[in-house]
Amino acid sequence: MTSSPSTSLRYDVLTIRRPGLSRDVPSGDPSLQWVANSATLISGEHEAVLVDTFLTEPQARTLADWVEASGKRLKAIYITHGHGDHFFGIRTLRERFPDAKAYAVADVVEAMRRQSAPDMLDGFWRKLFPGEISKTLEVADVLQTPELELEGHRLIPIDAGHTDMSRSTCLHVPSIGLIVGGDVVYNGIHCYLGETTRESRQHWIETLDRLKKLEPKAVIAGHKIPENSDDPGIIDETQLYLRDFNRIELETTTARELFDAMLALYPHRANPGSLWGAAKVAKGA
Ligand SMILES: [Zn+2]
Repeated sequence: MTSSPSTSLRYDVLTIRRPGLSRDVPSGDPSLQWVANSATLISGEHEAVLVDTFLTEPQARTLADWVEASGKRLKAIYITHGHGDHFFGIRTLRERFPDAKAYAVADVVEAMRRQSAPDMLDGFWRKLFPGEISKTLEVADVLQTPELELEGHRLIPIDAGHTDMSRSTCLHVPSIGLIVGGDVVYNGIHCYLGETTRESRQHWIETLDRLKKLEPKAVIAGHKIPENSDDPGIIDETQLYLRDFNRIELETTTARELFDAMLALYPHRANPGSLWGAAKVAKGA
């Protein structure tokens, strides 16, 4: 940086609720059977950077309206990881804001291509959300620089390795102590563990230690209960959840036992379907 920034950045979070992906939940409170995604707008005096988009076209339009209402010029969209619920909205956003390019690190762009291929797009996503996902999808460009810049402030991608998928990142904004966590942290919602192993969950716990060392003032989870605050304590909560899952996985035999024992510990988290999916994968059921 050649000069120090004059204006402080601010951030705003938009959340939307939607049905979860695993819908065959064996038990639990039906009023918790949903999930919420978050998108974060980091803005300076005139410009803004959006972190992540939403899954369906109507949700992406709501997001575009919200960004437009901020009155800022959208400079870039940063995508934390390659799950469709975080990037299928890129196209709709870029139609509204043609100057804003979407960026992600190379492995994340590769994961986006795999999620957009017919087997995943038609065989999985469109079956769960028929008629709701954009007809044409776009993936992000590979970010060619180590960080993004917004009115003199640094926006730094953090490589989180394997968390809720094989490659994930967060975006760190040191000048305001903000971590936009993507799916590396969960806030009040069952973690998606369907693409994890005991080992990768251990790695995930260690990655969360790295985030704590950055001493954030706020941490925004990619999936959060809309009313919850963005307290950095969600890093500890995510670690505890992962430790509990690894411990109980050893203490139980069947997917149902694992599910029931975790649900007894976390009865108030939203989206128990995600836990059921994780339990089935862990037990090979
Ligand atoms: Zn997600």
